[in-house]
Amino acid sequence: MFVQIITMRLAFSFFIILFFFAANKKQQVDLIVHHGIVYTVDSNFSRAEAFAVKDGKIIAVGNNDDILNKYGAQDTVDAQGKPIYPGFIDAHAHFVGYGQSLFAVDLFGCNSFDEVIERVKKFSAEHPNEAWIRGRGWDQNKFPGKAYPDNEKLNELFASKIPNPTKEDYTKWLMAAQHNCFAQGLTTITDCGLNYTDVAIIDALQKEGKLQMRLYIMLSDNPANYALYLKKGPYKTDKLFVHGFKVYADGALGSRGACLLQSYNDKPGWQGFLLSNKSHYDSIAALLINTDFQMCTHAIGDSANRVMLTVYNKYLKGKNDKRWRIEHAQVINKNDFDLFGKASVIPSAQPTHATSDMYWAGERLGEERLKGAYAYRQLLEQNGWIPLGTDFPVEDISPFKTFLAAVFRKDAKGYPAAGFQMENALSREETIRGMTIWAAKADFLENEIGSIEVGKKADFIILDKDLMQVTEQDVLNTKVVATYSGGKKVYK
Ligand SMILES: [Zn+2]
Repeated sequence: MFVQIITMRLAFSFFIILFFFAANKKQQVDLIVHHGIVYTVDSNFSRAEAFAVKDGKIIAVGNNDDILNKYGAQDTVDAQGKPIYPGFIDAHAHFVGYGQSLFAVDLFGCNSFDEVIERVKKFSAEHPNEAWIRGRGWDQNKFPGKAYPDNEKLNELFASKIPNPTKEDYTKWLMAAQHNCFAQGLTTITDCGLNYTDVAIIDALQKEGKLQMRLYIMLSDNPANYALYLKKGPYKTDKLFVHGFKVYADGALGSRGACLLQSYNDKPGWQGFLLSNKSHYDSIAALLINTDFQMCTHAIGDSANRVMLTVYNKYLKGKNDKRWRIEHAQVINKNDFDLFGKASVIPSAQPTHATSDMYWAGERLGEERLKGAYAYRQLLEQNGWIPLGTDFPVEDISPFKTFLAAVFRKDAKGYPAAGFQMENALSREETIRGMTIWAAKADFLENEIGSIEVGKKADFIILDKDLMQVTEQDVLNTKVVATYSGGKKVYK
């Protein structure tokens, strides 16, 4: 009897102690974010109020009470009712090229070649220590007679040899690029076309902890890259995934280098051209189909798209999860849209191309063909998802401009008032998905990034206006309050 009472007493005290610990000891995590409007971008596009982060990953998502009662952290962020989204992912850009361009002469908007020369002279005077002057952004459509310039005048003034960039050059470029991208809420960039030498430097800078940006890399279509990486296989670290090859089918529409099925509307007898023989594209597809690498092909004209879709369909043989991509998928013949869905080919779109090109795309294509151009809704319907990017530095890095162009089909000037080919606008939700989870999926990273869900890396942004609610006029006034990558604040 006595023994039994003692046992009961012990059990009772044990219960009390347990209760005490449960009530007072919260699970310690690294970061708690609360009182936000958290767009998780999960499969239901559900909303939450708070989440907890440990070791760079999201370990719980829920309402304020759930998270704040269960978890404790030294670092807590009260979002004060502001919207929180997953970090933006640009599905098609040139991160290294952009970094480089920040130390080059900006030639965007030059109205004549003389203006190009003037800007180069000015840059040269202001940057006496730059050994070599690079410039980009000129558009001959803005020059008198729309004539192409040659380099004669430039050579007279600035003759020299391009030196090989050093690691210091890369550091300068990439740190500047990263700073600007974090400030726009971008936490992952897909770099479309690098050499293995670029990748080695990026990997080193990331391992040294200097470069925080996550990068998905498509290697350029050249023998040295194939030789090294086909032997080695895809390469993956926390912040780097080298997993694709970038092939060029044709050029751009503005310069009439895009390969069309029929003559250009404004240049009879001229259809543009493919950059390689069809047999080249066939051989690359035959090579990559038996590897884990993704084939990603730049195709602008309807002929280039048809050639590549035909090659892809031949090797992919129906529905699959190879996620081979057509970059830009800009002008599609109305009979060819199905070729995307048939072989699960991913159209990788850049909505700001539509609003940059709309001023002259009709001249190049004529009314009928224009209907199948920049047709993002039709492309989305093929697989039920579409990744979105910018192609920066060809376009601005801003994901907000992408949002405006995709949803309202307007440029930064608000033109055109009724929107450009509105039948191809995407919804706000689709656009957010395109810039987050669908972009992640196009990079085979949807289990790691692209949404605010348990197990994902804690890449997220706090905005001052809510993209799901903001008025059209205020889209470009939306500011990034803070950007986090792997639970660490990388911009405020
Ligand atoms: Zn590009």
